[in-house]
Amino acid sequence: MNISKSDQMIIKGISGSPGICIGKAYIVDREGVNITKRYPVSDDMVPKEIDRFKQAVSKAKNDHAKVIDSLDKDLGENLNILETHMVLFKDKLLYGKTIDTISHEKINAEWALRKVSGKVKTMFQQIDDKYLQARVIDIVQVSDKIMSYLFGAQDIKISDINKRVIIVAHDLSPADASQIQLERIKGFVTDRGGKDSHTSIIAKSLRIPSVFGLGLATTSVKNDDILIVDGSTGTLIINPDEDTLFKYEDRMARFQEYRADLERESHLPAVTKDGIALNLMANIELVEEVVAAKDNGAIGIGLFRTEFLYLDLKRFPTEDELLIKYKELVELMTPQSVTIRTLDINGDKVNPYLTTIEEANPSLGLRAVRFCLENQDIFITQLKAILRAAAFGNIKLLIPMISCVEEIIQVKQVINKAILELEHEDKIFNKDIPLGAMIEVPSAVIIAEHLAEHVDFFSIGTNDLIQYSMAIDRRNRQVAHLYQALNPAVLKMIKMTYDAAMKKGIDLVMCGEMAGDPINIPVLVGLGLTDFSMNSGAIPVIKRMIRSLDTQKAKKNAEKIMALNTVQEISEFILTEYKEILPFGETDES
Ligand code: PEP
Ligand code: MG
Repeated sequence: MNISKSDQMIIKGISGSPGICIGKAYIVDREGVNITKRYPVSDDMVPKEIDRFKQAVSKAKNDHAKVIDSLDKDLGENLNILETHMVLFKDKLLYGKTIDTISHEKINAEWALRKVSGKVKTMFQQIDDKYLQARVIDIVQVSDKIMSYLFGAQDIKISDINKRVIIVAHDLSPADASQIQLERIKGFVTDRGGKDSHTSIIAKSLRIPSVFGLGLATTSVKNDDILIVDGSTGTLIINPDEDTLFKYEDRMARFQEYRADLERESHLPAVTKDGIALNLMANIELVEEVVAAKDNGAIGIGLFRTEFLYLDLKRFPTEDELLIKYKELVELMTPQSVTIRTLDINGDKVNPYLTTIEEANPSLGLRAVRFCLENQDIFITQLKAILRAAAFGNIKLLIPMISCVEEIIQVKQVINKAILELEHEDKIFNKDIPLGAMIEVPSAVIIAEHLAEHVDFFSIGTNDLIQYSMAIDRRNRQVAHLYQALNPAVLKMIKMTYDAAMKKGIDLVMCGEMAGDPINIPVLVGLGLTDFSMNSGAIPVIKRMIRSLDTQKAKKNAEKIMALNTVQEISEFILTEYKEILPFGETDES
């Protein structure tokens, strides 16, 4: 609902990341990236479309050449792949055929390129030769690069914004958000987006206020409008009046004080009032976040989302490139542990540079371990880098989105292949590392006892577990109100997973955002969970909560909570029972 008062306009959205910022608007428009068929284009447009295509190819090729020049020449096989791409840019199968298709079929360049690359892909896939089949990925990558230049997508670089502004966008991908430079960008708001999307997770780890799902932000805001972003309550105020501005300046100062106060306590241990020590670790997306994780008092990295390295590079990294990053990470954290999760792309982390699979329901598609098992060369490259890095510190290996026992068996077979290759190559590595499965799909909860036979630990990913169990797209603002961590169904699934892990004697950690929200902590502790990993910014507030909690009381209350039927009853119960200790601030309405 929009409330207008003089020039001021208030739009309510969904809290992406807490905190308040005030500043000038900067609109980033990412629309127009849908490929549409313009058919037929008029005769005089044909040469223009061909010219546009040629220019896109030459820009993509030049940039690609720069990437190759900037790389270490010892990259071996991987450098060869990039050099193959150079040739493919002008290959007659792709280049020549696309030009022919534009002129013969009189269609626009994007549509012609998609048509031709689709045919080439099918052709390669049908060849009875594993090597050539695997080269489909090269075709895909090259045509995607050209496509992005046709869209002009390369012109929109969040990292190039050089003013102190608040970004207003229709949508921001997690990869866009990870380019945000903190010294420039104060906060961001988007029309689209839902709760606990990966973009929101990035915003939280950057500790940058953000509001999503505003629907009308890009149409209501003009560049340089004054904005107030209240990420805690999910509110955007456009051109605030003086009173509102004054009120929010005060609120912003109080929030900053509150945060500073929490941070001063971050080194204190996470021990409950009755002396039970809990383990709080950090979720990170980039190695650079280790400093913040340590400052916030994390005792390890409970989830390293490795896909962001891939999204940033815009290509599949080499084993050595990955090794350098993983080794740096474990060495920084030693002797504490680092849980490296294997590639979780697709779903909401689609990057046209990496995959071009078109899926009607990407979250239900070839995501995470499913993608890795289909693309074993990419998977093996990553596994080898992880096993090699494990020689330098304490690594745990975590597999995302396991939905059946067969998958974990197949994963183990691929790990064995990676081990054999490393042995054959005489490389130093450590294969004795714990293997974990993420429990984030309802089927995994139901067969948790079977899965537990094959792994050393479980990591509950509530972000997806809520998405998949409640059938709520994490990015969809229309259903964000139904995305509820305290839903009895979600709590029951957590309990089932916990019971299965305990029965089978394996470790259990929760790494979903649910663990980073103070209101959820009493019931999680009451159910018996002891290990949590969260965006590192949440650690201080969760520690404060834990230090005021009594586990015996939490256990009794958890039993009562498990007998309640609705989210409302559950949240009211927690708010009443834990009123004194629920911390002020993170979702401050005051
Ligand atoms: C989860 O699903 O809870 C999780 C931690 O993984 P991600 O947010 O990266 O999907
Ligand atoms: Mg997940």
